[in-house]
Amino acid sequence: MSADILEARGLGKRFGGLAACSDVSLSVREGEIHAVIGPNGAGKSTLINLLSGDLRPTDGTILLDGRDVTASGPHQRCQGGIGRSYQKTTIFPERTVFDNARLAAQATRPGALAMRCDGKRRAAVREAALAALAEVGLEGRADTPARAMSHGEQRQLEVAMVLATAPRLVLLDEPLAGMGHAEARRMTGLIASLKAGRGVLLVEHDMDAVFAIADRLTVMADGKVIASGTVEAVRRDPVVRAAYLGE
Ligand code: ADP
Ligand code: MG
Repeated sequence: MSADILEARGLGKRFGGLAACSDVSLSVREGEIHAVIGPNGAGKSTLINLLSGDLRPTDGTILLDGRDVTASGPHQRCQGGIGRSYQKTTIFPERTVFDNARLAAQATRPGALAMRCDGKRRAAVREAALAALAEVGLEGRADTPARAMSHGEQRQLEVAMVLATAPRLVLLDEPLAGMGHAEARRMTGLIASLKAGRGVLLVEHDMDAVFAIADRLTVMADGKVIASGTVEAVRRDPVVRAAYLGE
């Protein structure tokens, strides 16, 4: 079994009187997809925001490769190997597919933004962007304006933008949202392929996709973990069946 890339211990986040997350513990290993499911408002996006550094926890600890990164911001976590997508789209519609990937690649190579950036660094950014587009199957669309692509392709581009930051841990927030059946199947295959050499934390409502590709599962409700374990074990859990799967 490979080592944990990420470990969250007892994470909590309060918004005023609301506990959006409380006492959430989970880990993600290299080579696995750890899915987080739960109804709307369960705290899934809040959890991703805590892991990416976009939000600071009120309680708990986050370890990246065993190092405490709880106090570090999103930029440092990105540099440390945590890449994320957002529930709402974040592409620049007027820019080309390549430009979107390039801008994302620059996030982990900040020197590339400087006026006097050298050619070597620029080439590395370009290479990372092209490799990311190839990994999601959009290499042939590099010069297309992002707005001219289908919804499914735009979401593929968002995954490419995450990959362009060279993450070892990929956090995906509802990557299948709004997709038709064929698009969802393609994206599910793509997500399954991402875990080679990386860890993936997948928040997703599409249970067929989750059951098909997740290695481990955490079920949240009202900010708390109500079940976790292998997909098989969680599917058999009577609490989960009653509370979430509606069985
Ligand atoms: P999920 O992604 O599982 O649907 P969220 O993490 O988005 O759930 O939200 C969990 C709870 O926290 C919800 O009740 C939501 O309204 C609340 N919440 C999320 N973000 C904020 C915020 N920035 N300020 C106040 N409340 C928030
Ligand atoms: Mg959400």
